[in-house]
Amino acid sequence: MSDDFFPVPGTWAQDALFDRAGREADYRRSIEDSHAYWLERAKRLDWIEAPTLTDESSFAEADFGVRWFADGVLNVSANCIDRHLAERRDQTAILWEPDSPDAEARRYSYAQVHEEVCRLANVLKAAGAKKGDRITVYMPMIPEAAFALLACARIGAVHSVVFGGFSPEALCGRIQDCDSTLVITADEGCRAGKKVPLKTNVDAALKDCPGVKTVLVVKATGGDIAMQPGRDLWLHEEAAKVSADCPPEPMNAEDPLFILYTSGSTGKPKGVLHTTGGYLLWASLTHELCFDYRPGDIYWCAADIGWVTGHSYIVYGPLANGATTLMYEGVPNWPTPSRIWDVVDKHQVHTLFTAPTALRALMKEGDEHVTRTSRASLRVLGTVGEPINPEAWRWYHGVVGEGRCPIIDTWWQTETGGAMIAPMPGATDLKPGSATLPMPGVVPQIVDGEGKVLEGAAEGNLVIAQSWPGQMRTVWGDHDRFFQTYFTTFPGKYTTGDGARRDADGYYWITGRVDDVINVSGHRMGTAEVESALVLHEAVAEAAVVGFPHDVKGQGIYAYVTLNSGQEPSDDLRQTLIKWVRTEIGPIATPDAIQFAPGLPKTRSGKIMRRILRKIAEGEVSAQALGDTSTLADPSVVENLVANRVG
Ligand code: ATP
Ligand code: MG
Repeated sequence: MSDDFFPVPGTWAQDALFDRAGREADYRRSIEDSHAYWLERAKRLDWIEAPTLTDESSFAEADFGVRWFADGVLNVSANCIDRHLAERRDQTAILWEPDSPDAEARRYSYAQVHEEVCRLANVLKAAGAKKGDRITVYMPMIPEAAFALLACARIGAVHSVVFGGFSPEALCGRIQDCDSTLVITADEGCRAGKKVPLKTNVDAALKDCPGVKTVLVVKATGGDIAMQPGRDLWLHEEAAKVSADCPPEPMNAEDPLFILYTSGSTGKPKGVLHTTGGYLLWASLTHELCFDYRPGDIYWCAADIGWVTGHSYIVYGPLANGATTLMYEGVPNWPTPSRIWDVVDKHQVHTLFTAPTALRALMKEGDEHVTRTSRASLRVLGTVGEPINPEAWRWYHGVVGEGRCPIIDTWWQTETGGAMIAPMPGATDLKPGSATLPMPGVVPQIVDGEGKVLEGAAEGNLVIAQSWPGQMRTVWGDHDRFFQTYFTTFPGKYTTGDGARRDADGYYWITGRVDDVINVSGHRMGTAEVESALVLHEAVAEAAVVGFPHDVKGQGIYAYVTLNSGQEPSDDLRQTLIKWVRTEIGPIATPDAIQFAPGLPKTRSGKIMRRILRKIAEGEVSAQALGDTSTLADPSVVENLVANRVG
């Protein structure tokens, strides 16, 4: 790993929310005086009844449960909209950039969002939806997707967003799992100039979902679709019939806000449940601290609303903070590899938050697509989703940000609701590849295989020792699975499933999933480290490394390598790459096999599914051995990998 060090520029520390000492003092207080700290932090929200209770959670089996602010009453949509009306009525709340650069951007002020959300909420009520009902949202990245979330929150219904790229089967399974009675969708979506048949997919999914009584359809493209009388309603027709005012439902802080299924990198997706008070506080606080958010900033999180990043950092966090949040319909590299940077210039974006997978894809296309744009408005650059290779980090920092913008590498999970370990722009010196330090109230620990807590510089399993407000409350419909999955491996602690290293400065480096940590001749190694070394080579665009059983070493190293455009696979190159890794990391990391792969199996959120690669490396290639592949973006990639297995 790189030991490079990027100190906070002096100018930064002066204006920022926190300088280093400020962050340290705040963190200490959040731990030592936790109750008072969180009561005070809770004041950033608008409560109907302010809480007097804070953390009442226990990770022990006897009295297991996660509860925060349990006597507080509030409404999330009122916090994201109504309370800003006095000061920011006409400020843009949602700024929408369409898929096609030739189509017109749309702006919704806070007052307009209020009206749209109230009407949609009244339409939901008219369709019979009430507090506690589950509503599935299957939408393209259009403003109506955000309105749908806020309208559910307004009436106290529990939304379950299913990524618009998922198949009818995946949608059906998620509707059934939480017994949704209503689906909100659009006629079609647009991505990279292609139409996505959302309503047609819903029709197919609902063949096996008799519980769904109503489908609300947003007219987005005007494409030709079938409407089933008695079940399907056009939103614009229904919205015209209802009032533009809908009083927000008072919700207990522990009432459910949403269910969201994890991305399925490691197995069958889990229906993660988040509640009202703690979640919103966490999303809003971390949005402000990680991005050093300031009123007036144009803030762009380029995730999809179908992932938790979209929930917390496109919708709930920024709107709770009264921000202007940019929502982008398309993909980063269409119609050209400059699109992201063109959008930054067009809307004068201050903060950009994206994923390593997008950065690696853009990096591969060459710097000229970046440098031909200005990017002068950028102040903060964020990343989330996977460990960011130091190579990609440096590119983001040096080429995209021209050395001006801190890279905010946020480590967190669907389960955590918001960022857990991350830098703060004015407070945290940066090291490429490290997510740095814990957020307020977060107590990370590194434990060995037996659960022994390791102090100082150490490497092992990353666990969280006590609850934080944004923690998930249960797996929908299976509270026991919640306990078994997260609290039994190391009793009394939340198990993240990720491996991490803590260096002598107390900085955390996520080494990947615990399952991806390999043990070669007694040396523990994060697969991310070998991947980062491979990606450093000029011929390599992307790499995924897994372990496989090895007679002598215990585990051997198997690397899948995707080459940059213009590079040809050859035995010479294979030998070169093997030598390269030996020099970069050391002989212990010498790959035993390198397979050239035109594509890697990724989830729809762009994460590499290493469990499949592991199976192929082990020679287990039956469909049964490969497990649940329903969340793969392109299942055909797997056949190619199986056919070209090495060894
Ligand atoms: P599943 O739990 O169904 O296997 P998933 O873990 O991919 O899916 P998410 O909640 O979307 O679902 O992803 C969280 C995981 O992503 C983390 O546990 C971690 O492995 C990885 N991750 C996220 N952000 C970072 C980061 N900044 N650095 C390193 N890893 C990260
Ligand atoms: Mg996970």
